[in-house]
Amino acid sequence: MILCARRASGHPAHTGVLYSDPVTLTAPPRLLLVHAHPDDETLTTGGTIARYAAHGVHVTVVTCTLGEEGEVIPEGLQGLAVDHADQLGGYRVGELRSACAALGVADHRFLGGMGRWRDSGMAGVDANKHPRALVAGDPEEQVASLEAVVREVRPQVVVTYGPDGGYGHPDHVRAHEITAEAVRRVGGVDRFFHTVASRAATNTGVGALRDVPGLPYRLPEPDELPVVDDGVITTAVDVSGHLPAKLSALRAHATQVSVWQDGSGVASYALSNGIAQPVLGHEYYVLADGDPTGVEQDLFGGLFGGREADAQGAR
Ligand SMILES: [Zn+2]
Repeated sequence: MILCARRASGHPAHTGVLYSDPVTLTAPPRLLLVHAHPDDETLTTGGTIARYAAHGVHVTVVTCTLGEEGEVIPEGLQGLAVDHADQLGGYRVGELRSACAALGVADHRFLGGMGRWRDSGMAGVDANKHPRALVAGDPEEQVASLEAVVREVRPQVVVTYGPDGGYGHPDHVRAHEITAEAVRRVGGVDRFFHTVASRAATNTGVGALRDVPGLPYRLPEPDELPVVDDGVITTAVDVSGHLPAKLSALRAHATQVSVWQDGSGVASYALSNGIAQPVLGHEYYVLADGDPTGVEQDLFGGLFGGREADAQGAR
């Protein structure tokens, strides 16, 4: 893929005669996603990752914790949980590795290295105070770790949760805070997005599950699933062609996610709460910072100019 490196033109190393024709530069699009726990990359952005990875985008995923505090769904794996052997974090590393393989993530890292930060659990629980809990940790150290990744990868697009963490989990809130700060300090990121769930699409998806025979989960009450008003959504990425990869990745997180599909291809999944969630054909984003031109259907839309719009259109 030949792309015009718009940002590279300002880089000292790229101003010499060798680079005088910018349209010959190869600048693969680079996408960085920062997530709190193993499974969040798939639950919120799995289709997006699969789509961009399949089209040659360099996708980097940073996971902040090992998800040690998660509840365990399969009966046979209950012994891993925090109130038993407390081995869930290590086990989830393997689940995450399988999910990343299914999605096509070539570059995965843990914030500060594997095991540096621990899942803080839900707000107000004792796990918040664990010495290695992400929320008990020094934000400066965490920002510095992420800053190093941003400087190395030089992503044009960065994705994490909004300021409320999507649904209020302290680790998701912290992931937002340190990502926003790292992006601000490094500079040069073209777009910063928050991953969100669409109220309209979620309602439609749940409605479609209503009459599906054999669904083993209970349907959510109105507004029980965390969603945002569609008016704030700037970007809907069509992931309908990449749902098999997303479903494979969801299945990889078997301690956290149960996946159900009927013979006709209808799919749903549930976390340990047993609430049915639809598998949607789009994933949704709010542009928090950057140029909104061309952003409606593509996180990179319009970033590389007209020549590159063709390459984007081929996706
Ligand atoms: Zn999470």
